[in-house]
Amino acid sequence: MKINQNYLNVGESYLFSTISTRIGAYLEQNPGADIIRMGIGDVTLPLCPAVTKALHAAVDEMGEKTTFRGYGPEQGYGFLKEAVRDRYAQRGVELAPDEIFIGDGAKSDIANFLDILGTDNTVMVPDPVYPVYLDTNIMSGRKVLFAKGSESNSFLPMPDASIEADLIYLCSPNNPTGSVYSHDQLKAWVDYATKRGGLILFDAAYECFVQDPSLPHSIFEIPGARSCAVEFCSFSKSAGFTGTRCSYTVVSDELEFGGVKLAKLWLRRQTTKFNGVPYIVQRGAAAVLSPEGQAQTKEQVAYYLNNAKTIRDTLRAKNVWFVGGENAPYIWMKCPDGMDSWQYFDLLLQKANLVGTPGAGFGPAGEGYFRLTAFGDKDRTREAMHRLEKL
Ligand code: PLP
Repeated sequence: MKINQNYLNVGESYLFSTISTRIGAYLEQNPGADIIRMGIGDVTLPLCPAVTKALHAAVDEMGEKTTFRGYGPEQGYGFLKEAVRDRYAQRGVELAPDEIFIGDGAKSDIANFLDILGTDNTVMVPDPVYPVYLDTNIMSGRKVLFAKGSESNSFLPMPDASIEADLIYLCSPNNPTGSVYSHDQLKAWVDYATKRGGLILFDAAYECFVQDPSLPHSIFEIPGARSCAVEFCSFSKSAGFTGTRCSYTVVSDELEFGGVKLAKLWLRRQTTKFNGVPYIVQRGAAAVLSPEGQAQTKEQVAYYLNNAKTIRDTLRAKNVWFVGGENAPYIWMKCPDGMDSWQYFDLLLQKANLVGTPGAGFGPAGEGYFRLTAFGDKDRTREAMHRLEKL
């Protein structure tokens, strides 16, 4: 018996465990310190009433012989796929329900999609970015190149024709930087992928935060994307489903490589290896997309974006360089006085009892930067910014 040796090449997931170890050590020395956490990317507002009503109704259905459901379609129930299709149609993106696959989280689908792609593809991952793209490709032994973000490109790396990548990850709005690609910028990536016969894996998990009407929510708003891109999206951040779990992945019927349709392979993969999302959860997700659910979840997004504004206003007043926070729940700031990410982490923890996420945890290009999240409580975010201002 031999193990998958590639797993030995994956870096330890130190980031959040190191953060909690440092907080623990600080609290031991300073018991009762009032620490404000602006580090974790989880939501804090509860499910909205339209969703909990639909969940309760679905539970009752499951308790009645006439409405009980057993094994469901692994790719999702028609009612939810149609609701997702209608949501895309509102933005002028036409999809067929069979191009939409319901999943239990964008993380699982992003990771599992690699099952149907050759391990001899070269991968391009933005730096800094959500660490799952890199780790899952190391686990499967692919060669990974980095597209470097920096202040000069506002942490939105653009294609370089001299770099030969087959799988291209894009995350917009980006975690951790909160930067959002424009139509023109995404068009350049679509052109690059089309020319190379490559595939874009587009992560739209934070699309609900895009407020600027000139910015795209979906890669499918870009002409040509249907034949070179897959899109992953989630109810996690748009409707607080991080503990409920539901997402969707769009694989267009035009996506074909070597004469094989990716949608067909993905369906085969999912029907074999994935159990599907529970009926009750899918009813809750469909309620997110109802007019009532849309109005209620929009209010939640507005609440978080208001926190983001509190953070942005403070950083601007203090002349701190940052991006994000306008069309994303993340604010990516430069550590002051040339400090590295962990030095700044310690300073904030010790002098202001504030916790954020060191940028170095999202890739080497994140060193010297720091991520603050807007997912907290309004009053606590204000208090946090008073402390930062004072510091
Ligand atoms: N994609 C990005 C960029 C994320 O930041 C996250 C979670 O934080 C996910 C995907 C995972 O989403 P889900 O909760 O749907 O698995």
